[in-house]
Amino acid sequence: MPELYYIDTMGCQMNERDSETIAGVLQSLGLRPTDDPQVARVAILNTCAVREKPEHKVFSKLGDWAKLKRARPELVIGVCGCVAQVMADEIRARAPYVDLILGPRNLSALRAGVERALSDDRCAICVTDPDELPDDHQPAARTPGVSAFVNVTYGCDNFCAYCVVPYARGREVSRPAGDILAEVQEVVAEGYREVTLLGQNVNSYRDPHSGAGFPDLLRAVGAVEGLWRLRFTTSHPKDCSESLLRAMAGTPAACEHLHLPIQAGADEVLARMGRGYTYAHYKSLVDLAREIVPGLAVTTDVMVGFPGETEEQFERTLAAFAEIRFDQAFMFKYSDRPGTAAEAMPEKVPEPVKQSRLQRLVALQNEIGRAVNAAQEGQVFEVLVEGRDGKSPEKWRGRTRGNKLMVFSGGQDRAGKLVAVRAVRGFLWGYLGEEDAMA
Ligand code: SF4
Repeated sequence: MPELYYIDTMGCQMNERDSETIAGVLQSLGLRPTDDPQVARVAILNTCAVREKPEHKVFSKLGDWAKLKRARPELVIGVCGCVAQVMADEIRARAPYVDLILGPRNLSALRAGVERALSDDRCAICVTDPDELPDDHQPAARTPGVSAFVNVTYGCDNFCAYCVVPYARGREVSRPAGDILAEVQEVVAEGYREVTLLGQNVNSYRDPHSGAGFPDLLRAVGAVEGLWRLRFTTSHPKDCSESLLRAMAGTPAACEHLHLPIQAGADEVLARMGRGYTYAHYKSLVDLAREIVPGLAVTTDVMVGFPGETEEQFERTLAAFAEIRFDQAFMFKYSDRPGTAAEAMPEKVPEPVKQSRLQRLVALQNEIGRAVNAAQEGQVFEVLVEGRDGKSPEKWRGRTRGNKLMVFSGGQDRAGKLVAVRAVRGFLWGYLGEEDAMA
């Protein structure tokens, strides 16, 4: 009976892609996956440090796993991801029963670390070198489905004042375009029909060999035979260029969706964040994008309560949202991150004020999101079908090219197919639809 492993993935798509590598390495060691940590021989927590809450979750999970280990001392516990990188000492101090601590750039040490921990040589292993070049050729056990993640860059050089990512994931490194294209061809050969190119700031991608930028990479990946859809995340307004937008418009596989974090609506706040653009620049970029890419869905990230944010400055965030009308937004309260510039900034906004600002912004964006989707009722969308819907198994679910969820009634055997679906009702989360018989 093979030994079992359990992986708990927190945070972003980069972490999901890293967990596929972790799973691939563990499977290459003969272990098999389980959804139950109670029966696992190896349990890995792939962590997120982007806000206070996920960090707290890490230590509470480790507390639960400590109980499992007391009952089964042979259990191997590993912590990977961004908290492993920025809080390795704290993990060792507060959770001495953890066998393996690996930073996001150090998964190359996973195999040897697990082999050692599975043997009787149980001393804790900790590798957190943020400058190591990740080994792209490690086996990956990809999540089954129609869509696959492919990294194009690692790390980030922007050092936005609130962000822990450059400390957790290291300085920015671009992968050779040849490696990226080879990986895309590989996943297409495995049956994936959609690829999402991943990076903290994909717009600043530069092929280390040819110097070619992201627009060229997008065109090249979009030309891979058998690839139906191409997405990318995350963009940065200071590097998102007209040539990228034209590459999107000129690449049939490139989906009409742009995720462009605004973070705040007031220039003073953007300046203190070190974002490198003004609201006017951001707005003109969105206007240009909507002009060049017809039917473009624009989504964003935003935070409220950045140190020093006044009520008037927050109201400019509200005004920005009312003016731009995002299709969807990920909205958060600012929280101090260890070692970031903002952590030392004065004039922290009190929690109740942050909470009320978040509620007001969420209320506004939900109203806009619903209205945007309701206004598209009757439209026919191309949907890439992921499978049956969990809540309504008689229906199918999939995503439009604008990355919106569509739950619809349709014919048989639609999984993995591109289907034309008419949106009957628009909701905050997406659409209810029916297969378009005319298409
Ligand atoms: S661009 Fe800014 S917010 Fe995004 S990962 Fe880099 S430092 Fe963080």
